[in-house]
Formats: sequence, structure tokens, C-alpha cells
Amino acid sequence: MIDKMNIKLSSPWFGDLEVEAVSRVLRSQVVSMGMEAKFFEEELHKFFGRREATVTCVHSCTAALQLSLQACNIYHGDEVLVPTLTFVSTFQAVKANGATPVPCDVSVSDGFIDLDDARKRLTSKTKAIIPVLYAGCGSKIYDVYQFADEHNLVVIEDAAHCFGDENISKRDGVICFSFDPIKNISCGDGGCILTTNSDVTERAKDIRLLGVVGDTDRRFQGKRSWDFDVVEQGWRLHMNNIAAAIGRAQLLRFGKIKERRQRNAKMYLSALSDIPEIRLLPINADTAVPHIFPVVINGGRKKELMTYLAENGIETGTQYKPNHLLSYFNLGYDLPNAMELCNGLLSIPIHPLLSLEDVQYVINNIRKFFKK
Ligand SMILES: *Cc1c(COP(=O)(O)O)cnc(C)c1O
Repeated sequence: MIDKMNIKLSSPWFGDLEVEAVSRVLRSQVVSMGMEAKFFEEELHKFFGRREATVTCVHSCTAALQLSLQACNIYHGDEVLVPTLTFVSTFQAVKANGATPVPCDVSVSDGFIDLDDARKRLTSKTKAIIPVLYAGCGSKIYDVYQFADEHNLVVIEDAAHCFGDENISKRDGVICFSFDPIKNISCGDGGCILTTNSDVTERAKDIRLLGVVGDTDRRFQGKRSWDFDVVEQGWRLHMNNIAAAIGRAQLLRFGKIKERRQRNAKMYLSALSDIPEIRLLPINADTAVPHIFPVVINGGRKKELMTYLAENGIETGTQYKPNHLLSYFNLGYDLPNAMELCNGLLSIPIHPLLSLEDVQYVINNIRKFFKK
């Protein structure tokens, strides 16, 4: 029996390849955005496998969302529908453009935005909707596109949980990914916009570099911009060469990362399915690459279980506290389904550094708690 366990909720998986990549960039003395970023964008494009789409690498998924909104002309005075169950960055990205994130309820079954509730929040100012593919559950995404068509809204997908999902690059849209410290691949910090909308790409390429027109293309040729124009607000949200080089290494190792995450998810899906106090979310570990693994604890013993697991060296968490409860985003109404779901949500460790024995240890402890 292992006595001292220390199982973290999340972790990246870096190895020699990433270390060598960082050294390569440092030795080149070119750490700002340049060829590494160019190659990373090309390699991601190939990875996504969608010829007519383009990839724009930026500083984070938050930046990807912010820039996409700006590139779709979402500004001050506009309203954007956002599920309340998401990381705070989805809301802040909307605020960054001066627009108002309007929290919407989610479905208790999978945490996905509840379109019946979203419909109630429509006003003449509503311009966009950001569906979040919570825990990779995106089977209802096409309903969002239909809803958006009916109400003339821009759709920007928050796919921070979904890098590597087989289905995601098949659709036309504006899709934002995260490469932050703990996501499916990590650049330290990073993110990208995948889109079939070439106008969004053209705008985002300039906006990420302080709005300097054409700066991306010159940097990718190893040149600098001396005589240039700026036509709109820009931000310093590009991806630097160090981050890009780490991302390139992660992409090379993604097959292994994916295998581990899917294996861990499948172990949980089969080993926890017969515990009456646990409800599993409809996570498809064959097509998705699960970034988080939230389960719903019924019967009010979630806190007790968290403490029990912590005592046994297993870190867990709640993803997420609903954003409509936060002072900055509170618009003064209740979202009951999100509250009900969130009360039971417990994320358990799924990251790729976990061994088979580690996952089994988590399972054993959960079963022991419920005396199964
Ligand atoms: C991680 C995350 C983000 C933000 O990604 P960053 O790259 O850290 O900015 C946005 N939305 C969701 C759902 C996330 O989990």
C-alpha cells in the first residue's frame, strides 16, 4: 500500500523535448514573435486538418476570445450571451472589449449553455454568443449555430477544454483554444484562434501586434516594421518564440498526451458508473481529449468527500464557481440550474502525469468513501 500520495488536480507534461526547444530559442537570441510562431501556426494548421481554416496564435485563450470579439466588431454597448459555468476569462474577454457579458443558465445534464434561458436574455443589443464546450461536452453545438442564425448573432466558441477533439475542426466558425499551464497542450501561456472566416484572421493578426498593419507578415520574414500604419485599437497579445517552441514540442508529443488523458477518463467512466451518489457527465473519451473530469456528487456529501480525498493526498476542485455570483458580472438574477449543478460538481485529477496506479488509487478512495 502506498502511504504518502500527492496527486495534484492538474499538471502539464513537459519533457526533454520542451527543454531543448526553449534552449534552442534562447541560443538563437530571437525570443520575440518570429519564425517559431510561424512554424507553430503552420503545424497547428496541419494538425487541425482543415485546409480552408487559418490559425492565429496569441498570448492566451482569453486573448483569443478578446481579439475574436473585436475582429467581429463587438464593442462598447453590445451584449454577449455567455454560460455562467465557465472560467472567469470568458467573461473578462467580453469586458475587455467594453461589451457586457450576459450570464446564461446551463443544462444540468452537461453544463452546456441552456438556449431556452439564453432566449430570455436577448435584447436589441445582443450581438454575440460564446458557447463553452464544458469538459469537452459539445454535442449540442449545432443548436447554438442555429440559434445564432435565427437571432443574427456572431458565434465564438470557447474550446479551451477541447484541444485535440476530433470533431471540432470540421465546423465553420471562430474557435478559441488555450495552451495555458494546464491545458491539453501548454506553451506556458498561449492560445489560438481557428477560423474559416478570413476577415477575422486578417484583423486578429494585426490587433495582436498593437494594431501595426502587416506586422505579422514582416516578422515572419525576419523583418521589422519601421514605416507602418495603425487603423484601430491593438493589444500586445501575440505569442512569443519561446512559448511557440514549447507548443511545437507539445504538439509532437500530443499522441502520448492524448492517450494518457483518454485512458484516465475511460478508467473513471467505467469504475465510477455504478456508484449511486455519483453522476457522470456525457464525456466521450474516444473522440474528445478530456482536459478536466468533473463528476456530480449527489446527496450533499461533496465537501466531506473533498476533505476525505485531501486527507489521502488527492487534490480536487470545483470548476467553476458560476460567474453570475461574482460582483463584477452580477446582473441581479438567479440561474437555478447552474447553481444546482455547481453544488455537486467535483473535478478529479485526470492529467497525463498520472500513472495507471495513481488513477486506480483515486478510484479506490472514492469507492472506499462511498463504501463500495
Ligand atoms: C482555461 C480556460 C480559458 C482561458 O484560457 P487562458 O489560455 O488561460 O487564457 C477560457 N475558458 C475556459 C473554459 C478555460 O478553461
